[in-house]
Amino acid sequence: MINGIKPLGHSLRWGMVGGGGTSQIGYIHRSAAQRDSTFTLLAGAFDIDAERGLAFGTALGVQPERCYPDYESMFAAEAAREDGIQAVSVATPNNTHFAICRAALQAGLHVVCEKPLCFTTEEADELERLSAEKNKIIGVTYGYAGHQLIHQAREMVTAGELGEIRIVNMQFAHGFHNEAVELQNPSTRWRVDPRFVGPSYVLGDLATHPLFIAETMVPDLQVKRLLCARQSFIESRAPLEDNAYVLMEFANGAVGSMWASAVNSGSMHSQKIRIVGAKASLEWWDEQPNQLRYEVQGEPVRILERGMGYLNARALEEDRISGGHAEGLFEAWSNLYRRFALAMDATDRGDTTFLRDFWYPDVHAGLAGVRWVENCVRSADAGSVWVEC
Ligand code: NAD
Repeated sequence: MINGIKPLGHSLRWGMVGGGGTSQIGYIHRSAAQRDSTFTLLAGAFDIDAERGLAFGTALGVQPERCYPDYESMFAAEAAREDGIQAVSVATPNNTHFAICRAALQAGLHVVCEKPLCFTTEEADELERLSAEKNKIIGVTYGYAGHQLIHQAREMVTAGELGEIRIVNMQFAHGFHNEAVELQNPSTRWRVDPRFVGPSYVLGDLATHPLFIAETMVPDLQVKRLLCARQSFIESRAPLEDNAYVLMEFANGAVGSMWASAVNSGSMHSQKIRIVGAKASLEWWDEQPNQLRYEVQGEPVRILERGMGYLNARALEEDRISGGHAEGLFEAWSNLYRRFALAMDATDRGDTTFLRDFWYPDVHAGLAGVRWVENCVRSADAGSVWVEC
């Protein structure tokens, strides 16, 4: 159980790139990072507009001289200070992630980066190499993966309670962009512009979340080959897709599918992961994250509730308020940020024993998502053919 006791003897000195006052995702980064006293926000290049970034940073309590006009000047100035930042979070549009992560690692910082980590496998390989060379971690904010019941599922799958895994169905299909809302909304505009998001929209923006959750629930899940079809129902978004279907075959003989959509009219999120085994199935839905459906063939459906004593120890480890009281996305992100801090600290101490079995969405998870999107685009653009992964 997490009850506010500091997990580290110190708080990591921390900065942000992006996540400014108008951003969608900046606040949950700050809230999650500071929840367990593991990070202290001391610096930022918060906004593409330097003046706005300064006004926002000082309103957050950051010293004006540590509110920088851009990430390059932040990394240089902070490296020159004795009390300079030790870690940085990157919460900017996708096209900037690679350059900012690379510069942060080169400046000797641990990094927490938004998904997708970058656009190509080559870029992800470079970040992975640099992270190892500099001995600094990259954590990727697959935020939903911090929900406790996902780890209940992982333990049940690993213990063989479902039997051999046969089918993995995934979807993230919301309806918020069923019209060309980008004409009015700047936060959506860059999401449907290849200059900012590279080769895909919903595959990179949405599908990588349930893909990572499925990979967390089924630890040995490896896509062997896939077939993708993608559509642009709002024509002006072409060649970027606002809807996609992917069929997959996994190395262990299981099969699976992904539906990613931003035009699923009426739907809030519909992010669901269903793991089907030879004996039983599990299903998790992000709109009801405190419940996990457990369906054993021939028996009544069971709903496992977060925070209850019948869950496994790993699922209870990050309980913050006990069963019955709903926890949500802010708690899930806090769990991840707590893990990022523990991984950064263990890396700095050279504690390889601790890191060996310590789970968090790391650079390899970031790379896997990038490679998967790349393969989906390759398949779709070749006329929806099977491609080896
Ligand atoms: P947004 O457009 O709402 O905000 C982007 C912010 O970054 C703004 O404050 C902008 O001024 C700032 N910015 C842009 N370029 C910058 C630069 N070069 N230097 C400094 N600041 C810069 O975008 P958003 O919706 O907050 O998304 C940001 C990132 O977070 C994206 O990569 C997106 O995919 C990701 N995201 C992740 C989740 C998740 O669940 N993990 C959810 C939403 C968004």
